[in-house]
Parts: sequence; structure tokens; C-alpha cells
Amino acid sequence: MELLTIGAFAKASRLSPKALRLYDALGLLAPARIDPVTGYRLYAPEQLDRARLVAWLRRLGMPLARIQHVCTLEADQADQAAQEIRAFWARVEADTAARRDLATFLIDHLSWKDPTMTVSADPLEIRYAAHSDAGRVRDGNQDTAYADAHLLAVADGCGRTGGPASRAAVDALKGLETGGIAAGSLLNLLEDAVDRARQAVEGVAGAASCGEEATGTTLTAMLWTGAQMALVHIGDSRVYLLREGRLFQITHDHTLVQSMVDEGRLTPEEAACHPQRSLLVRALGPGADGTPDMRLHDARPDDRYLLCSDGLSTVVPAAEIRQVLAESAEPDQAVRDLIALANGSGGPDNVSCVVADVMARRR
Ligand code: MN
Repeated sequence: MELLTIGAFAKASRLSPKALRLYDALGLLAPARIDPVTGYRLYAPEQLDRARLVAWLRRLGMPLARIQHVCTLEADQADQAAQEIRAFWARVEADTAARRDLATFLIDHLSWKDPTMTVSADPLEIRYAAHSDAGRVRDGNQDTAYADAHLLAVADGCGRTGGPASRAAVDALKGLETGGIAAGSLLNLLEDAVDRARQAVEGVAGAASCGEEATGTTLTAMLWTGAQMALVHIGDSRVYLLREGRLFQITHDHTLVQSMVDEGRLTPEEAACHPQRSLLVRALGPGADGTPDMRLHDARPDDRYLLCSDGLSTVVPAAEIRQVLAESAEPDQAVRDLIALANGSGGPDNVSCVVADVMARRR
């Protein structure tokens, strides 16, 4: 067998000799032989396939530890190696999506023109209703639903002190002055508010005795800036927007099954009936990842927003939600009809709805 020098091997694999020495040190790609006299590294031609795979995975931006794992799998479980790459790429896309949202937030805020400065547009206001119901099965209600002229919020608590946790999270967002401030300041204000919510939830959780189910809560809120809705979202409560008769889900569930759908490991249908479909990958609570999604939505007259806990979205299909939102005249009627639908489907969970209509202010 003819061994290749590191220079020849580097050329054939499109990896630099420096990279090859690093991969050797990491145990990722060891030379076939090291000359005992000269110390030169020598590689076997059969190692080229592995080296080329490493080179392409590096170009993909995959960390070395993960490449090592893919290479191990590639030897005899090629389908699992493919799955690893798919999962890695889904993660990259999720990270990019989060950065894109942040960019969009800043662009939307900075490019927005105040409609009060123009003659044609009327100032906007919101009309709202909020209600929470224990459902048909649970003894208590650990959800919190809240709406005022500046804040729409739903939080779904779990654990023994889940109820106080969801209330504390929403309370932390009340009274914020979100109108007429600069983009960076608004982001800071939201981030600080989420920090306060997290601390408040941890305070509540700390009061619970050890060995109980971990206390935590989702938090999905929209803060009205006078023309836009600043969205803060952690967990699996949702926001839907009814615009021109069409229903859009504008939040992304932070659940294990949703990330498996994103990674191509589950179909949406499989996720919908998965036994662990409510397992959260983000939440407010001790030890949980409480990173919020933050976005800014331009509001338009006649937009109707729905914030709801999973007690609604798990049992009422989106088509029925759309129909109720499209047909109810008042937010209060929509909220009551939606909760009745959830309870009509067995009401297995606490259910919370907030409905808000954007409208031109009457002068
Ligand atoms: Mn729930």
C-alpha cells in the first residue's frame, strides 16, 4: 500500500496540512502511520473519503465535535449520519431565523412612519377582551389571560405553583410605557421586562417545596406602541392574526415536537398526537431556557389578534378558530365562543383567550 505524504493528502482532500495536524490532535482523522525517524505523517488513500467529508462539513460550518460524530456514524449508519446533518442544519436555520426576526424588528421600527404625522391615516387603537377558564377536567386554573389598552398577554403555568407563576409573569409586563420610543430602547425595555418576569417566576417557584413538579410558565404577550404590536413569546401559547379573512399563526411553538418537526424528524400530523407534545424547550422557570422571541408587527385597521394557551389550540382546529374570529362581531363574543369550543371538545386543559381588534380611533 502506497502511503501519501501530508502534502499530497492535503492536496487531494482539499484540507490544509495545518488542519490535518489539528484533526489528528483531536482524534478526528489520525494518520495511517507516523514515520518513527522523521516524524512525518503519512496517510492511506482509503482515508481520502473521510477527509473529503470532513472538508465539506467544515465548509458547512459544522463544529468539529459534531463532525466527529457524523464520521463515526458514516462508517456503518449512513442514514443516521444524514439525519445528524439535517438536525444540524435545522439548528442553523432556527438561529438564522431568530437573527432575521431581530433584524426585521429593527428595520420595521426604524422605517416606520408615524401615521399621526400624515393627513390620511387615522390614529389606531385597540378594542380587546380577555378570559380564562379552568376547562372541564382540571380542578384549578393555572392560566392567566390579561388585556388592557397597552398589553395583551397569555401565560400558561405548570407545576404546583403554576398559577402564581403565570400571574407573576404577566404582572411583570404591566404598566410599561411602549409608545413613542426608539427601536433599541424598546428592545431593551422588552428584554428587561422579560428578565423581571423570569425573576418573578423563579421567586414563586423557589417558594414551592422540593420534589414537586417543576414550576414554570409560558409567556406570550403583545405590547401596543400606538401603531405596532411588539411581540414577546416564550413557550407554546400562540398568537394568531386574522387579516383580510385569512388566519396566520405568527408565533412558533417552543416545544420538543415542534423542533423535531423543524428537523424533519416528525411530521406535523405525528406531532399533533405525540404523547409528549406539550414538552417545552423554552419556558420561564428555574433551569429553563427563557430566551424570548421578540418581533414587531405593523398593525392595520381591521386586524384581529388572538392570543391563546394550548388549551385552545390543542383541541380546536385552526379552521374553526378562523371561523369564530371571522364571524364574531365583538372581541368579547369571540373569546367566549372560542372557550366554549374548547370545552365542547372535552376541555382537557385550562383555556385562555385574548382577542384584540385594531381600529381607527373615532375623533
Ligand atoms: Mn395548557
